[in-house]
Order: sequence, then structure tokens, then C-alpha cells
Amino acid sequence: MRDFSYYCIMAGIYIHIPFCKSKCGYCGFYSLPSLKLKDRFLEALKAEIVARKNYLNGENVHTIYFGGGTPSLLTLEEIRELLHLINIHFPVAENAEITLEANPDSLSLEYLEGLHKIGINRLSIGIQSFFDNDLQYLSRKHDSNHARQCLNWAKQAGFENISIDLIYGLPTSNAEQWNRNLDLFFEYDLPHLSAYALTLEPNSILTKQIEQGKALPVNEEEAIRDYAILCHRAAENGYLHYEISNFCRRGMHSKHNASYWFGTPYLGIGPSAHSFDGASRQWNVASVEQYTAASRRCEEARRSNPEDSFPRLPRFARNDAKRVQEKELLFPEQIYNEYVMLRLRTHWGIDLKWLKREMGERFSTYCEEHAQPLIAQGRLSQTREFLYLTDEQMLFADGVAEELFS
Ligand code: SF4
Repeated sequence: MRDFSYYCIMAGIYIHIPFCKSKCGYCGFYSLPSLKLKDRFLEALKAEIVARKNYLNGENVHTIYFGGGTPSLLTLEEIRELLHLINIHFPVAENAEITLEANPDSLSLEYLEGLHKIGINRLSIGIQSFFDNDLQYLSRKHDSNHARQCLNWAKQAGFENISIDLIYGLPTSNAEQWNRNLDLFFEYDLPHLSAYALTLEPNSILTKQIEQGKALPVNEEEAIRDYAILCHRAAENGYLHYEISNFCRRGMHSKHNASYWFGTPYLGIGPSAHSFDGASRQWNVASVEQYTAASRRCEEARRSNPEDSFPRLPRFARNDAKRVQEKELLFPEQIYNEYVMLRLRTHWGIDLKWLKREMGERFSTYCEEHAQPLIAQGRLSQTREFLYLTDEQMLFADGVAEELFS
């Protein structure tokens, strides 16, 4: 039975915290392995929250997501202040989902209790594996004992909505160890799991180590094997596979991430954060130095002309030689392609009725026609007006999407 309970999703805010204790070998995200620039960064972040208070056109904010990086490196007071500022400048829904990504190496019971008290109601914890040999291969800073301890603390602190990340396809693991990782996840009875195949990012430390023969190479066959185990065990334990990498108890989807897949507006604050207003996409420069410098220039401009104070950062940034914020207007073909690509990754699939209503018959007919050979080849499935991928087909979502692109 397909679950459409999240069909209606409202606006969200993403806050990027670009600091980590150290760099994990496989990391492809923008983050700095030092907190040296944290204070200056927080000032700029607050200025951007205020400067972009009208971006969502007064729409109710239903999700707030602190991602990174490692947001759990911020103090409780720093997170509380950011939440307070968002609440002042945006209409935040009473039952908004407020997620914080956390790494075990920065968690304690006291800190988790504090997070719960200040209003964080969902945790996404980067466990990655419950086995030390995997964690060492990934150069994570925590060990398996601490990972388990953090889950106990999170529950003790009052969190019910907890997600963990696990990585599969590791050359240090095997089918038995991966099954054991999943056993532990099920034993903790958590409502959400994000599981990713290990990807070798260009220029990551791990990629270089493998090229130099200093780390074990990755085998794609093992990732495919682990993915099959994952899908099977998740279904067996009553979890809904609602996106390629995401599994949940019914109704416990990440509302925030679902808003990306449903094309609803979101505002991204902080270096490298992306925003979408329904017609265009903006993204901030992936550099804390350039981001904070632009913010300082905005502040100086504001002081010299108080009449023309906010919103300043986006406009100032657009004209700035260093291009601290980029903007792209989306053509209908791009909107269609993005819709196809994002929705095929999900359990909800492509809604042909929506395509016809929102984008016109040209796109819905094009999509349906191009879907027929894929359905005949068993690479795509159809139920009434929905085109979607089954568990087995999902690993090849990108290839299928390309064949439906306009
Ligand atoms: S904690 Fe996450 S963001 Fe930070 S270095 Fe590791 S993988 Fe990258």
C-alpha cells in the first residue's frame, strides 16, 4: 500500500553549520575541521536569517533542519539563539519538525537533554556503523560503544523521533556484519534509518588512499548485496522504504527532506546552502571566509545607509564580484527533469495527474510515452496515474530518470 500522507508539505528552513571536529576520509560535504571562524560565522548566519525573512512569502514554516558539518558542535545557547531568531522572523508552525544532525563524538546526556529542552524534536545521528573496524576505515572519531551509548542517552533525554545514518558496501564489512548492524538498529526500535552506499567522492582522503594502495578498495557488488539485504530486512521489520536511502515507521518520514522531493519552497541559510522559491534556485558560496566577508560588507553598507537596511545580503551578494550567492531561473524543462529525477527516487513516484495539471499535457504525455518501453523492460512500474520504482529497480533510478528527461 503506497502511503501518501505527506502529499501536502509546507515551507522549510535549512541551516548549514560548516564545522567538524576533523575530516572523515569519505567526506564530500563542505565543512571545515576547525572552529576558529565559528563566532564570525554565527554573526553572518544571524544576519542572513534576518536579511532573508521575506524569502518564503510569509508561508508557515513546518520544518527547520540544522545540517552540516556537525551542528552538534554548537553550544545549546547558540542553537537556542538561532531558533529564537527564526521564530521572531518567520511564522513557525506550532508542531514544526525541528531536526538537528549530530555526531556521537560531540554528544553527552546533558547536551541531549538540553537540546530537547530548547525545542529540537528530531535527531539525525551519524552512527555509520556499530563496528570499530568500519568506523576506523571511515576515519570516524567515535567508537561503537559510544555510538550505542548515544542512542541510550537520546532516548533517556526524551527524544522519540530519532534517525540514524548507516553506511553499507564497506570493504571492512561483509553480509554477516551488515546484518548485525541492521539487527542493532531494529533492537533500538528507532523510527527512521538513512542508509547510504559508500561513495568515493573525487578528492576525498579515502579516494586518494585507495588510489595509493593505502586503503582497501570498494567493491560495487558488495554494495548491491548489502542494499538487497537492507530492503528485505527493513520490509520484514515493518519499515516503509520511502526513498532510495530512507526507511521509516509509517508516518515518521523526514518531513524536511520530503519537502525537497515534493518541490515545496525552502530557504537555505549559511555557506553552500541552497534555496528554492518555486521558480528559481539560489545557492550561497561554499566558503566560510567569503560568506562572512560578504556579510561584513553588507553590515557596513547598512550602517552607512540605515534607511535601506534589509534585505541586503542577497542583493549585495548578487552584485558582488566574488559572487557569494548564485541564482538560476528554472525553465519548464528543468522543472520537469528535476521533478522526474527527485520523485523517481521516492516511494511516491511520478504523479502523471500532477504533471498534467501543473505543467500541461505536453509534459504528462511525453512522460507517459517514454515510460512505456521502460515498463515493458521491467525497469519501471505503473499503478493508475503513478510511475514508480520497486525496491529492486530503485538502485538504478538515475538511469531510468535520464530516459524520461525532456
Ligand atoms: S562528520 Fe560528516 S560532514 Fe563532517 S567530515 Fe565527517 S562526513 Fe563530513
